[in-house]
Amino acid sequence: MSIAALRPKIAVLYLARCLGLFALGRHLTAKRLRILCYHGGCLGDELGYNPKLFMSTETFRKRIAWLQTKGYSPVRLDDAVRTPDANRGRLEVVVTFDDGWYSTGRELLPVLAGQQIPSTLYLCTRHFLEGWPVLNVATRYLLWKAARRRVKLEGFGAKVDGEHDLAIPAARESLAQGVVAAFAPLATDRSAVCAALERLATAVGLDPAELDLASRRFDYMTPEEVRSAAASGCAIELHGHDHYYPRGAPERFRADLSRCDEVITGLGLPKPRHYCYPSGSFDEGAAVVLDELGVASATTCLPGLVHDSSPPNSFYLSRFLDGESIHQLEFEAEMSGFADFLRRLKGRRFSLPVAAKPKTSAPTPAGDAFPK
Ligand SMILES: [Zn+2]
Repeated sequence: MSIAALRPKIAVLYLARCLGLFALGRHLTAKRLRILCYHGGCLGDELGYNPKLFMSTETFRKRIAWLQTKGYSPVRLDDAVRTPDANRGRLEVVVTFDDGWYSTGRELLPVLAGQQIPSTLYLCTRHFLEGWPVLNVATRYLLWKAARRRVKLEGFGAKVDGEHDLAIPAARESLAQGVVAAFAPLATDRSAVCAALERLATAVGLDPAELDLASRRFDYMTPEEVRSAAASGCAIELHGHDHYYPRGAPERFRADLSRCDEVITGLGLPKPRHYCYPSGSFDEGAAVVLDELGVASATTCLPGLVHDSSPPNSFYLSRFLDGESIHQLEFEAEMSGFADFLRRLKGRRFSLPVAAKPKTSAPTPAGDAFPK
């Protein structure tokens, strides 16, 4: 490998690995829990649109193989949270998935099931119950796909109609928001949503076949598919009903969690005990509500090793968001503890204040592209 050909950050990581710093990091942090986060698999060209949200089976398989080669021990989230940090085994890692994408079940979970690796799926129950393509993701994909064009739209409503230059990202984003608002009242069943999206595709010069909604690449799993995932070793946990964390509104948060819990237990699955903050957004009130409702842990989108998994830290667990856009060396740096060490050195690692009140976090940059 030519170091000169690498991005500066990747070149530094490459040198660090060559110098044995990754191996040293693994040794020194072997008793720290690692939590990994994935989203959807890839059924077409979704990687080009959003390589944080979608990951190829090949890359996912490579990550899992690397973990196994390096001696990591995949463990169930529930077991990891129940285990006191002092009793933790070597290189324990928890694999989690957010949302509930059909492509997760079709492409990524089988990689784990084939090797009896446990995992967790944080299910957003509103999109799951809807059973149609997630509008804001499918819309943004569609406009990305048509990105070189100038279009004139008519008959879609005041928020959409007019001339748009899809080559300009801000114009595309503004149009996407208008489309999602205009289509929301039309979203009554899968065929209505698909018809609306295909009409938009045609209007921006895309063949609906290119949108390929029949592949279900923007859909969530069905109830049967979720039960099947659970049966194959994937625990189904809470991602909220609305895919939105209501800051400063504990009553609303309580209601959202309860609805999500009802849907999951209504599938005949075990009562969920773990939560994941949608888009990584949280505030200091979250721990109180989660504790009241008997939820044992919550994961954030803040990268790092888990240094303390006891309450209240258990409600703000660090988690690394892996994706197709993450270089293998960045992944290895995170998993070895080297990236965590650098973050601590720079004072950029999140930690609970003395009063056990977490900082209020901003949504992750990737969160904008996630369903709401
Ligand atoms: Zn999510």
